Amino acid sequence: MRLPKPGDPKRRALMARVRQQGTAAELTVAAALRSAGHAYRLNVRSLPGSPDFANRKRKWAIFVHGCFWHQHTGCKRATIPKANEAFWRDKFGANRRRDARALRALRGVGFRVAIVWECEIADGEALAARLSKILESRRVDMPKPVDH
Ligand SMILES: [Zn+2]
Repeated sequence: MRLPKPGDPKRRALMARVRQQGTAAELTVAAALRSAGHAYRLNVRSLPGSPDFANRKRKWAIFVHGCFWHQHTGCKRATIPKANEAFWRDKFGANRRRDARALRALRGVGFRVAIVWECEIADGEALAARLSKILESRRVDMPKPVDH
């Protein structure tokens, strides 16, 4: 595909679409949620940590994390650049602390939270299983019928 020239309205539309679509990992999660029939909102800034996907009513949130930026423990993508190593360690440390804070805050208000790592996306079945764990348990949260 050729990129339309700058100033061409087609180009503006294309760039907007790219921004809205997000990363390949986010697209995969969006497709998995849609195919399972789950309604969601994207980049929910009103919730701690601005989850990538969330449903306030159902009280679940999903973060899609890049293994490098969020330093996926034990993952081969979670490398630390040798140049400016101290800088990167600080930066990654701050990212991880922020992630942990968001997780605690969301759980504190009763949300079920899943973190989907970029490297897990390739395995569609594992992804679906992981998502269903937080999404399917919604039945438990339904108000109990009152017996008189
Ligand atoms: Zn990973």
